[in-house]
Amino acid sequence: MKIHNSVGKNCTNNEIDVLVVRHLLKSTPYTNNDLVTSIVKYQEGYLMQGGSSFSSRSASGQIYPFDNTFKTLVGLSWSPDYYVLQPGVELTLSSLQLVKEMSDRFYACTSKTTNISSGYRGPGKQAQAMFDKITFYPLNTGTGVDAVRNEYLNKNLVDQVLNKYKEVKGGYTNLVGKTGDFSRFEKEAVVAMTRIIEQQVASGQYVSKHLYNSAFDVIKTGFTPTDCQFYKTIANEANYSMINEGDPPHLHFQRM
Ligand SMILES: [Zn+2]
Repeated sequence: MKIHNSVGKNCTNNEIDVLVVRHLLKSTPYTNNDLVTSIVKYQEGYLMQGGSSFSSRSASGQIYPFDNTFKTLVGLSWSPDYYVLQPGVELTLSSLQLVKEMSDRFYACTSKTTNISSGYRGPGKQAQAMFDKITFYPLNTGTGVDAVRNEYLNKNLVDQVLNKYKEVKGGYTNLVGKTGDFSRFEKEAVVAMTRIIEQQVASGQYVSKHLYNSAFDVIKTGFTPTDCQFYKTIANEANYSMINEGDPPHLHFQRM
């Protein structure tokens, strides 16, 4: 758990920071409705038990991000991870650090765990996902290609990838089901599509938002509009943007 600014008497009292402190105070006997009173009582109580590491600011009713009051409060509460990664989700180390911090703060506000359904998807994974979606439909129709085209906003970029798929497929005359030449076709197509996506990324063009290495999705099933607003505030504090998306309902996050 972290706070970004001071909490308590005459402090910054950022809304989420206040909720984090209130959450941490639940592990103490000092859960007065009045926040400053709770903090003062906690500081006095800790001192009475012989906690000697407080400075002269001891019973000030104020808590700062790295002061002893905050450190002891965090130490008192058992703090597990408040996020879950769905199988196969990849996050960079810096994203993981951020997911931990944001999901802690979100839990303090809502008592809800964060479920991450998607993370970074590099060009190879992106190409494979597109190939899988196309070939989920019968190969001798254009249904799969149309389905994938519909999913992406930037038609110019998605068409470059799909045209490459069609070009490779043109070299295979007897693709009916997923037997025979299919696995050779799959390898060749995915490699060729990956190259196109890599070239697009190299020139700063992203067919999918998940090609940004900071991107991740949170399943929003069970979230109220207030919960979503909390997450937006928490994200913006961390310089992330949040987009509310449907089908399936999720919140998309990426660095601003
Ligand atoms: Zn997303």
